[in-house]
Amino acid sequence: MVFFKILPLLILLIIFLIPFFAKKYLQFLFTKNKDDKNEEIIMCDKCGTYVHESLLIIKKGKNFCSENCLP
Ligand SMILES: [Zn+2]
Repeated sequence: MVFFKILPLLILLIIFLIPFFAKKYLQFLFTKNKDDKNEEIIMCDKCGTYVHESLLIIKKGKNFCSENCLP
């Protein structure tokens, strides 16, 4: 049977592919953690409102929720 002849080759291939996929998976986890860091909710230094990092205005090292809170 041809199947049994290629079976060791397949096992060898899988053994070589496992570290490759493990690396890919770890990279995926790493990028996911990085994304989590970008999803931070930060408090406005003036009014105390919690705003998403992407909406945050940073001026002179302080965080503000909107232009209304800018000094
Ligand atoms: Zn504010």
